[in-house]
Amino acid sequence: MLVRRRNKYSIGRAPSGRARCRRCKSCPPKGALVIVISAFVRHNRRARLYRCVECITPAFAQTVREAHGRARRVPAEPGMDQEALAEARAQLDRAMDDGDNA
Ligand SMILES: [Zn+2]
Repeated sequence: MLVRRRNKYSIGRAPSGRARCRRCKSCPPKGALVIVISAFVRHNRRARLYRCVECITPAFAQTVREAHGRARRVPAEPGMDQEALAEARAQLDRAMDDGDNA
């Protein structure tokens, strides 16, 4: 049986200055607030991809919501501080609302 595996999302920080954002293609500086995308690349293998919080679009927020629900349900990477987490979730919520109102 074919099971469609969804990407998973979490809130974290850029691991290095070389991780490219999937949208703007620039590299968020190490430690920058990002959405981590855990994507299936092939059988049971995941790749970690990144998107800067500035690049959260309504369409992207919608795919996050399909995977997790509202922003407060999106998990945090280990060690995330509450303030940064709240900021990223607020960005996601805004983009979800923008999508609803479009
Ligand atoms: Zn970006």
